[in-house]
Amino acid sequence: MSAAVPASDIYSELNEKNKHRVKAGKSYAGLGLFAKDTFKKGEKILEYVGKRLTNKEVEVITQNKYLFEINSKVTVDGSTRLNTARYANHSCKPNAEADVIRGHAYLIAKKTIKPGDEITWDYGKDYFDEHITKDKCLCAPCKAKR
Ligand SMILES: [Zn+2]
Repeated sequence: MSAAVPASDIYSELNEKNKHRVKAGKSYAGLGLFAKDTFKKGEKILEYVGKRLTNKEVEVITQNKYLFEINSKVTVDGSTRLNTARYANHSCKPNAEADVIRGHAYLIAKKTIKPGDEITWDYGKDYFDEHITKDKCLCAPCKAKR
């Protein structure tokens, strides 16, 4: 699992540019990703980086919550600590979304995000049903409903 990640899979011009505009910090679900700057709606926040895996490589992985499917052939293993985007928690009412653009996954602001705001995205139905579930979701809207 801890095989070296090729530098070319980790390097992201966007992440270099934005590394001082975000930080990992304490959140409701352990660590979270927080804005240190304002992000406008539609602005890319971070690229979700990690070792780029083929389907064959993905098949043998049993436990990894940080896999991000880019397309039918490529999946990014975002478990490396160098992938700051992995700190972004799930929310059922998120302020960001994950999108694939030209073979790369990005966290993108869904609305204006202000300094101090926690950056969250919706992990998707499959992940939610398998790992989070309605009864255990710790996001603010779910907690408010309980
Ligand atoms: Zn929730």
